[in-house]
Amino acid sequence: MSFADLGLSDELLRAVTDAGYTEPTPIQRQAIPSVLMGKDLIGIAQTGTGKTAAFVLPMIDVLGEGRTRALMPRSLILEPTRELAAQVAENFEKYGLNHKLSMALLIGGVQMGDQVKALEKGVDVLIATPGRLMDLYGRGKILLTGCSLLVIDEADRMLDMGFIPDIEEICTKLPKNRQTLLFSATMPPPIKKLADKFLTDPKTIEVARPATTNVNITQRIVQVPATAHVKRDVLRRLLQQDEVSTAIIFCNRKTTVRDLNKSLKKHGFRSAEIHGDMDQSARIAELDRFKNGDVNILVASDVAARGLDVKGVSHVFNFDAPWHPDDYVHRIGRTGRGGATGTAYTLVTPEDAENIAEIEKLTGHKIERVPSPVAIDGADEAPAPKRARGGKRDAKKAEPRREEAVAEAPAKPKSRRAAAPVREEGPAPAPREEQRSRPPREERPVRDDRRRRRDQDDGPDEGWNGPIPDFLNYTIEA
Ligand code: AMP
Repeated sequence: MSFADLGLSDELLRAVTDAGYTEPTPIQRQAIPSVLMGKDLIGIAQTGTGKTAAFVLPMIDVLGEGRTRALMPRSLILEPTRELAAQVAENFEKYGLNHKLSMALLIGGVQMGDQVKALEKGVDVLIATPGRLMDLYGRGKILLTGCSLLVIDEADRMLDMGFIPDIEEICTKLPKNRQTLLFSATMPPPIKKLADKFLTDPKTIEVARPATTNVNITQRIVQVPATAHVKRDVLRRLLQQDEVSTAIIFCNRKTTVRDLNKSLKKHGFRSAEIHGDMDQSARIAELDRFKNGDVNILVASDVAARGLDVKGVSHVFNFDAPWHPDDYVHRIGRTGRGGATGTAYTLVTPEDAENIAEIEKLTGHKIERVPSPVAIDGADEAPAPKRARGGKRDAKKAEPRREEAVAEAPAKPKSRRAAAPVREEGPAPAPREEQRSRPPREERPVRDDRRRRRDQDDGPDEGWNGPIPDFLNYTIEA
């Protein structure tokens, strides 16, 4: 089936061809005709499946007719984080080339004045994170009564971040006879309830989880001891022996991100880092260095890297096994995108056994165990290293250096109680301010590991690491 069979306009088909897409992905095949027909939709799909275009493309055609009115956006897309919101905006920019649609992006961390100006003129598409939207709504800067199309994207992430009450409230402000599209990687009971309450006779589409069946990603586990310098040694050897052109390396803690990046650079690798302690411009600068090839390795924390869509990432390394299986799915989904192949290595310490079992349960996939490339007590002999494509470094076996033996953070907390909702985006209602004024995560006693993970990247610069939003309010001329 081709894009032309889906009922999209010729202008849109031209933009899709210009974007280099030849064939719709499964979610696009199933979703686009329904959205064009005005049906409500539940899309059970993750990033990496082409789900953004599955709603952006038909929306452009649906909104092609009709006129904007001041303060009354015609459609609303809710995203959990700033970078996801920005990526959706980029999608509108890319596919809307031959249309004349106006758009505004409402995200924390960007000057409110520009956003208000955009809204005052009237927009066809409003892309927002729930916090900033509620903020502006509360100030009377926005009316949602003219909004006939609502997209709730990454609903399970929204749940994770405590946004569901905001979303419920937003839904009640929109006209009842609107069209609603809800996308979520999983359908836990609160999301199901939300869908039952706010969608009308929806069509449900489920596409395979990338991590479950994405044959494009080769997944491997390397058993390592919980010793920082040995883990770094193993990582370096993996970087050397595999065909690593570009890699994202995930760590569970900001301190580990910093230490690891420092160590990699010291060993001649071309690496950069992003984590929640960096201000927005520093994150953007580091990300740009990675995107334009100045460096080929990006060391990242989960929250800072969420939603990153960088083309052609050949490898993902979990320097720390993620504490939660859904993070594993998100992390490895940074590679193997858009039909490309990718490899994901996870360094696993004996303490990570339970986490790995949970990951394998979630994905239904037994991850291949491969021998460590460096000799570890009781482990298999190391295979000879090959030289990597991207890095400049010494190929000799790296001896752990004295100055590298920095103390790592304490072992993973045991408790697995339910997550306390912790918001990650910018604006300022009281609870978030309280959160910001708390001491850094490492200094606080931790009650459960989900909270711990969410807290690690708290801060006013939270989440946004995408491109500079020059698309805050623009009109695409045909
Ligand atoms: P998403 O799931 O929306 O995050 O998209 C994942 C990646 O797939 C993005 O880089 C898109 O640009 C790309 N993509 C979306 N649709 C297609 C398509 N039909 N063919 C090839 N790549 C696509």
